[in-house]
Amino acid sequence: EDVVNKIAAGEIIVAPVHALKELIENAVDAGATALEILVKEGGLKLLQITDNGHGIDVRLEHHKEDLPILCERFTTSKLKEFEDLNSIGTYGFRGEALASISHIAHLSVTTRTKESSCAWRAHYADGKLASPKPSQSAEPKPIAGRQGTQITVEDLFYNVPSRRKAFRSASEEYAKILDMVGRYAIHCSGVAFSCKKHGDSSTSISVSATAGSLERIKQIHGRAVANELVSFKAENDRWGFKCDALISSANYSSKRTTILLFINHRSVESQVIKKAVEQTYATFLPKGGRPFIYLSLEIEPQRVDVNVHPTKREVHFLNEDEIVSIICDEIRTSLGKVDT
Ligand code: ADP
Ligand code: MG
Repeated sequence: EDVVNKIAAGEIIVAPVHALKELIENAVDAGATALEILVKEGGLKLLQITDNGHGIDVRLEHHKEDLPILCERFTTSKLKEFEDLNSIGTYGFRGEALASISHIAHLSVTTRTKESSCAWRAHYADGKLASPKPSQSAEPKPIAGRQGTQITVEDLFYNVPSRRKAFRSASEEYAKILDMVGRYAIHCSGVAFSCKKHGDSSTSISVSATAGSLERIKQIHGRAVANELVSFKAENDRWGFKCDALISSANYSSKRTTILLFINHRSVESQVIKKAVEQTYATFLPKGGRPFIYLSLEIEPQRVDVNVHPTKREVHFLNEDEIVSIICDEIRTSLGKVDT
């Protein structure tokens, strides 16, 4: 079974950024207002994320969040019934992230809830509690620590040599990580984010909890684009549809499209949306410049395709054409209002 689990995990987590995305989402789900991310060798050596969220219950035997079973597949505190799996929408897969990571890396978790008098630390291998050193027990240990959770992922793909060999440069992997952290830092207003390379004195990304969306975009993508953004919103009761967006005006033109797409607060990709937005934008720009767009959509979860492969972030949803045309109408209206 271990080989099967290892292969399955390697399909879910293909690059360090996929592990990090899951860890960021977990921290945000835990109500964290501050996330600190530390990376070594593009995440292959170390990925560490520290949050100030509600922590994980350790002591309650009946509790699904129990540390001992944390890394067993389908351990999740976010589903009441297993049948809910059919309506989880963009969440894609449930209770599998930590389990998968534990099959292909050395994983340790330190966590403390508000009610607990101390923090607890546990190590995992292959979905189970493991001892950090052969002489030690695998039981979670009490230690000093603040409320929240720290997840440490070391030596990703240590037991999957073929995958490890596929990585040519740590800086390429780090660039993907920064891109993903930047996306969530822009989307999660009210949450402070920092990300840095191990050993560096300065952070690559640092936004405070109080920074607004425009300030966040300015810090991450620069003043030139932040100064040219136009906002628009749309709503439609029929599909529980809501849209909240910022798009560059036609004064801004880039060679490359930047699309920060969130559906139900998960970062996803949609070629259909990308193409439509580019086409609409191009009608305002005779020379065919490319837009910058932040697009946060809410759609009833059961309308979003859950059968998308987790590493292909490509997403589909019902009434896609209608929803896309609502978005494009809004883009035309808001760009049309801007003086160029
Ligand atoms: P899922 O997020 O789909 O539930 P995961 O494998 O990502 O599955 O996480 C398993 C469970 O571990 C979560 O449901 C949650 O209870 C707990 N958990 C993971 N990360 C955190 C965190 N940073 N803070 C609090 N709880 C966490
Ligand atoms: Mg998760």
